[in-house]
Amino acid sequence: MCEMTEVLEHPERWECITCGHEWERAPAPPAARVVKDAYGTVLADGDSVALIKDLKLKGSSQVIKGGTKAKGIRLVDGDHEISCKIEGVAIGLKACFVRKA
Ligand SMILES: [Zn+2]
Repeated sequence: MCEMTEVLEHPERWECITCGHEWERAPAPPAARVVKDAYGTVLADGDSVALIKDLKLKGSSQVIKGGTKAKGIRLVDGDHEISCKIEGVAIGLKACFVRKA
């Protein structure tokens, strides 16, 4: 009986060195995306956050003041993890510039 102590790792399969038996690797579970605010608090869809510093809106002269709150955030893929509306304007925020409100 194969003890499978010596195995070769291939991208999609394992191979036993002792007997040559090969078997498929179990697909890795998709990593859950964890978005944390500036203080390490985990954020979730629907949370409210507050800016921890003034942020200049890209492409405009408008500045969003630190402390401004955004309700009902949505976590999205990409560089700016938080999609939300502030004063009616849909914007993307980086999680490192907010704290959970
Ligand atoms: Zn084997």
